[in-house]
Amino acid sequence: MSQTLGHIINGEYIPDTARCQDVFNPGLGKVIRKVALASADTVDKAITAAENAFPAWRDTPPLKRARIMFRFHQLLTENADEIAALISEEHGKIHHDALGEFQRGLEVVEYACGAPELLKGEHSKNAGPKVDSWSELQPLGVVAGITPFNFPAMVPMWMFPMAIVCGNTFVLKPSEKDPSAVMRVAELLQQAGLPDGVLNLVNGDKEAVGALLADNRVQALSFVGSTPIAEYIYATGCANGKRVQALGGAKNHALILPDADIDNAVNALMGAAFGSCGERCMAISVAVVVGDELADTMVAKLAAQLATMKVGIGTDNSMEMGPLISKEHMHKVAGYIATAEPEGAKLVVDGRELSVAEYPDGYFLGGSLIDKVKPGMKVYDDEIFGPVLCVVRVASMQAGMELINQHEYGNGTCIFTRDGEAARYFTDNIQAGMVGVNVPLPVPVAFHSFGGWKRSLFGDLYAYGPDSVRFYTRRKTITQRWPSAAVREGVSFSFPS
Ligand code: NAD
Repeated sequence: MSQTLGHIINGEYIPDTARCQDVFNPGLGKVIRKVALASADTVDKAITAAENAFPAWRDTPPLKRARIMFRFHQLLTENADEIAALISEEHGKIHHDALGEFQRGLEVVEYACGAPELLKGEHSKNAGPKVDSWSELQPLGVVAGITPFNFPAMVPMWMFPMAIVCGNTFVLKPSEKDPSAVMRVAELLQQAGLPDGVLNLVNGDKEAVGALLADNRVQALSFVGSTPIAEYIYATGCANGKRVQALGGAKNHALILPDADIDNAVNALMGAAFGSCGERCMAISVAVVVGDELADTMVAKLAAQLATMKVGIGTDNSMEMGPLISKEHMHKVAGYIATAEPEGAKLVVDGRELSVAEYPDGYFLGGSLIDKVKPGMKVYDDEIFGPVLCVVRVASMQAGMELINQHEYGNGTCIFTRDGEAARYFTDNIQAGMVGVNVPLPVPVAFHSFGGWKRSLFGDLYAYGPDSVRFYTRRKTITQRWPSAAVREGVSFSFPS
């Protein structure tokens, strides 16, 4: 074990070994380093650094902020492989998948490079006679981000590049399970010329989160993680007077109609259900199949593909699926699989049977396929967050849509069909924030915004894209006139019109 990761506060690396937690390589099942867990006092120092950096950063022209983002983008591109390797090492996802995650974060940085355009505001000349009016977008001040383990680089990059180009200063609390990749990303942003204190990174757990929630200098909080914590962050943050967006968990359904291209749909489902070991908030975890004949065909084809899916360590780029994040999570997912048959479903492929000979201590499960799943079963109701695909058989498209709309989560969903009218009806009437048509993971690109409905998002504004400008700024509308010094104006008690 080589090191304990500390914090980055006011441009300085701050070592901290007072309270730590192990960081694992989940493929090896071994501790590879430790990470500090910040005290409330350390969080206070980070907030103070951000507060002190704010006035000068707020007054830095957006063009100059954007130039730092351009340099940051260049450095990120040059170091992509190294960062993806850190993601694979601590998260376990395969290197090509880690590069994909990284690329999606990089695209938010590209969007942030447009700061001067994004922050132009609105102007009305002669809003009234010789009266001009404009709305400008002012930064909030110190804002904070709290992020999950499953996208250790991308999700933090959903937040701080946009918050910073909007003129805010930032305190990031990444996941304590895989903190190294984003620490490297933060170093590169400093190298790109970001002034000290504009981005601060505190490693930590709920103690650090509690300190961010309690501090009234923190104006806004972006959270991404599980629904119970998202709900707590939203309620507490709002009660403490903060602007909060809290993105939570998911159970994403794919609806497959009988006219779909079956082989393409099966391939798409394999990647969407088992990529990144199912540890994606946009993973498809339920295939809703219309008609028994189609369901029989799809289950047989999915089972055949699962028999040859390559499961192994994240650094082996020839693999298709890596390990789960931790031993506890592996047991939790295995526990869900164990409930399937007693609750009346059919376990077609049991991922618990897999072993990866070269890495006997790794947290591996194979992909599981569970057929004849129904609402009320644990594997259907709960977010499992593992490599488990449930198949629910329905008699019609309408029945499938009702099922999807009744689920408590509404993050992403998709339909596989060749019928444009059906697809349009689906996109119009399905209750989810992100919808795909023959696209299994409809993760919006960086110039749109990301967010779910129902219990997948607490708050009004989505992450990144145009909504992030709205979230990280507040609008001020100025009304101005320059009356002639030569004209005396009378008193008026009527409302100005
Ligand atoms: P998590 O909720 O356990 O942790 C997220 C963050 O909250 C971490 O930084 C963690 O330190 C902190 N945290 C954990 N427990 C806390 C507590 N009691 N009090 C205060 N802070 C606490 O989530 P995770 O396991 O890291 O990530 C997986 C979850 O995130 C899944 O539910 C997944 O669906 C969700 N997720 C959602 C999205 C989305 O955009 N909707 C994206 C990625 C992940």
